[in-house]
Amino acid sequence: MDRYDLIVIGGGPAGMAAALAAWEAGCRRVLLAERDDRLGGVLPQCVHTGFGLLEYGEELTGPEYAGRQTARLAATGVEVCTGTTVTGIGPDRTVSLLGRDGPRRCRGRAVLLASGARERAIGSLPVTGTRPAGVFTAGQVQRLMNLKGLFPGERAVILGSGDIGMIVARRLALEGRRVLGVAEQAAHGGGLYRNRLQCLEEFGIPLWLETTVVRLHGRDRLEGVTLRRRDGTEREVACDTLITSVGLIPERELLEPFRGGPLPPWLGVCGNAGRIYDLVDRAAHQAAGLTRALLARKEDGPAPALPPEAAVEVPEPGEAGMVCLLCPKGCVLRPDGAGGAAGAGCPRGAAFFRRELVERRRVLTAVVTLNGVRVPVRTAAPVPLDRFPEILSALSRCRVPLPVEAGQVLAADPGGWGGDVVAQVRMEAARPASI
Ligand SMILES: Cc1cc2nc3c(=O)[nH]c(=O)nc-3n(C[C@H](O)[C@H](O)[C@H](O)COP(=O)(O)OP(=O)(O)OC[C@H]3O[C@@H](n4cnc5c(N)ncnc54)[C@H](O)[C@@H]3O)c2cc1C
Ligand code: SF4
Repeated sequence: MDRYDLIVIGGGPAGMAAALAAWEAGCRRVLLAERDDRLGGVLPQCVHTGFGLLEYGEELTGPEYAGRQTARLAATGVEVCTGTTVTGIGPDRTVSLLGRDGPRRCRGRAVLLASGARERAIGSLPVTGTRPAGVFTAGQVQRLMNLKGLFPGERAVILGSGDIGMIVARRLALEGRRVLGVAEQAAHGGGLYRNRLQCLEEFGIPLWLETTVVRLHGRDRLEGVTLRRRDGTEREVACDTLITSVGLIPERELLEPFRGGPLPPWLGVCGNAGRIYDLVDRAAHQAAGLTRALLARKEDGPAPALPPEAAVEVPEPGEAGMVCLLCPKGCVLRPDGAGGAAGAGCPRGAAFFRRELVERRRVLTAVVTLNGVRVPVRTAAPVPLDRFPEILSALSRCRVPLPVEAGQVLAADPGGWGGDVVAQVRMEAARPASI
């Protein structure tokens, strides 16, 4: 049986950060097992920006962040096994794996569960009526659109105003689909203020507060939903798509053998498997800290304590200030008395405060390749918002051959905006089985 200093289960941002931290701490026998055929967890499907502020000090897209971490891992001796599912963790520190070459068992001095979270589905909600096609979770829609180039429908209602639902609402609106509204049962919107503004308000998508979906209509395909307000009033909305964004559930089934007692000190849980993180940097920071604590632990010492959270503040706008919308940190900016802004976490905050930077943003989407998969792209520079429709329309007709390199120009001046559209990541003709 192979032995390792650390076995990491799950190759999302938390698992990758943990494996890197172990390598940097001097461990030379580190195994990272990932059931998907590539690393990154949910990142490859998140073509929007908002990742990597702490780790890289810049705002990357999900594929870009995953690409950088994957490249760092490839430069270490960490044994990365993609296409490999962990099926069990034993009390004797053994881990059972099922990969392309069949089953295998190995033993770790320490084991770290970084298996992420799954989305809560419609079946877990008190919604009556039929069960037609056309009901998706937000993550499923993101995966379909950004990785496979498939669109769920034409007229969508979104249930739940978390960040994922709002980001999907914007993505659908950008691609010319009608988003009728976002129903939220609470009295206030969920998610980041930045997303409420940039994903809903800017696209004229209504947020129906104190409202939920109670019934589905339609036989084969969804034809409508019944919305109920807190005061009991109901109305029917005709739509062909319902997208749920009602929370994530940590994936912890592998901890079943340890149920009812404290986890043994050689076993840790990090990232979304431990608790839900809305910022990838926080998940990665916690995973790296926990790995160091786990590895430094004496054989008979107590279980490692969770490291403190990364200091990223995500405040709501205060009356006296404005929230900077340029990145998910959402710094609250106030006049500093000298014509500038106090509270900015970086120099761009002052420019935002002077309202110089709001009107331009990068177009972030995915274009179809000749073999059908989609490659995430971005405009080489921020673009005036009113040019988005022409650029997206030109990109929807674009077909690019593989392979492509990160930063390669895939469309020159689409929609006539005066700049290029480049690939976010390298993509090979056939996706590699492992790094
Ligand atoms: C739609 C969406 C949008 C987001 N937007 C942002 C954003 O703009 N900015 C930001 O900072 N953060 C964002 N986040 C949050 C961020 O992506 C998460 O905090 C982060 O992905 C959590 O990382 P993780 O490694 O714990 O989980 P995941 O990314 O879910 O990775 C878990 C991995 O474990 C693997 N796995 C699970 N079980 C097994 C098993 N038994 N064997 C082997 N492998 C297994 C899975 O295949 C997966 O690859 C977003 C999240 C989502 C879902
Ligand atoms: S000032 Fe703006 S861009 Fe800079 S860190 Fe704060 S929110 Fe991000």
